[in-house]
Amino acid sequence: MTEQYLQAIRQRVCARCIDTDGKGNCMLHYNEYCAVEEFLPEIIRSIQKVTSDKVEDYVVELRNFVCTECRHQTENGTCIVRNNLDCGLDRYFPLIIEAVEEVDAARRSA
Ligand code: SF4
Ligand code: SF4
Repeated sequence: MTEQYLQAIRQRVCARCIDTDGKGNCMLHYNEYCAVEEFLPEIIRSIQKVTSDKVEDYVVELRNFVCTECRHQTENGTCIVRNNLDCGLDRYFPLIIEAVEEVDAARRSA
């Protein structure tokens, strides 16, 4: 079920990511991980909870349901990876929202 979403994200997000080889292949090293892949089901659910034209409303759910599960977020809610613009999920979140909502719209009209 998440495969359709992953494909849409690969096309829309990974293809433009600074950590990709330009063909959509992730170039992160083995000891790093991208939250996009690690938390895909949670990301999809957090986006589906929101209907808004403000990205901030989606970010609230992202922080509550995804970042709280991530080993990079500290107890006071800060994240050094996010602060250094090294989180692909955070960096490209508006594009990820578009990708998920596009798949949802296609599924509804199928
Ligand atoms: S770092 Fe994340 S967003 Fe970037 S190419 Fe890899 S999986 Fe995709
Ligand atoms: S912003 Fe930080 S806590 Fe949230 S998913 Fe990215 S790395 Fe994890």
